[in-house]
Amino acid sequence: MVNPMDFNTFPLTNLCGTLCDIIGSERPRNATGDVPQIKKLVEEKANGRVDRLLLYNPDAVGQWIYEKYYDFFDNVRTYTDVTVPFLTAFPPKTPVCFATMYTGAEPAVHGIQKYEKPVLQVDTIFDALPRSGKKVALVSVAGQSMPKIYAERPIDYYLMKYDGEVIEKALELIQEDEYDVIEVYNQEYDDKMHRSWPTSPMAQNALRHYNESFGKLMHCVEKNWQNHDTFVSFSPDHGVHRTFYGLGQHGKNIPKDMNILHFYGVLPHKA
Ligand SMILES: [Zn+2]
Repeated sequence: MVNPMDFNTFPLTNLCGTLCDIIGSERPRNATGDVPQIKKLVEEKANGRVDRLLLYNPDAVGQWIYEKYYDFFDNVRTYTDVTVPFLTAFPPKTPVCFATMYTGAEPAVHGIQKYEKPVLQVDTIFDALPRSGKKVALVSVAGQSMPKIYAERPIDYYLMKYDGEVIEKALELIQEDEYDVIEVYNQEYDDKMHRSWPTSPMAQNALRHYNESFGKLMHCVEKNWQNHDTFVSFSPDHGVHRTFYGLGQHGKNIPKDMNILHFYGVLPHKA
């Protein structure tokens, strides 16, 4: 176990190209690097190649929050095989981090270096996957960072009212079995901890909801994607801390904000 006061060292830039590789897609232009733990997992459970990605992005679950509320995340551990500690992008704000997660580029390269949500002008996973013939759905609460910075790509957008509707739509799409890649964004913990603090009762409930929602998605994949090898992720963007005036916040160069854990699994096809 890493000392919680230390910074993680493995940069989030490594993820994007790896996700492309395992589904047989070209990478976006700036995505170098690799996550060897993912390659090894996919090698062991799916002979090195999957044909589906189900990417779940719960906002603001810092590593220390996961460790403090370990018992809340049983579904995450049930359906995933490896845990990878990352140092997220700086500043640890939602659009900055998600831009790095799905371009593989540093903020200075992708261009989002503060809390703003312009349409990304660089090559992204949502360009590279369709170029390689992959059909992609992005399911999110409307108006949030993910759909805004990744707008104008040749993918399908499902923009919903709030997290519950996002999950319902994602379950529908999994059942229809039309998409190669589904990205699912949820935000309740980020909302609740900003309104209160990172360990408040309502923020804790939001964490429980992330775990429940992830379990629903996984159960649905197990049932409906039996002919596919599916790579799944539980991948937050950044962490969180409590300010001196008491509210939840993030954006500082401190381990509580910068250290995140990602969880990856493979649900192999049923013979
Ligand atoms: Zn965020």
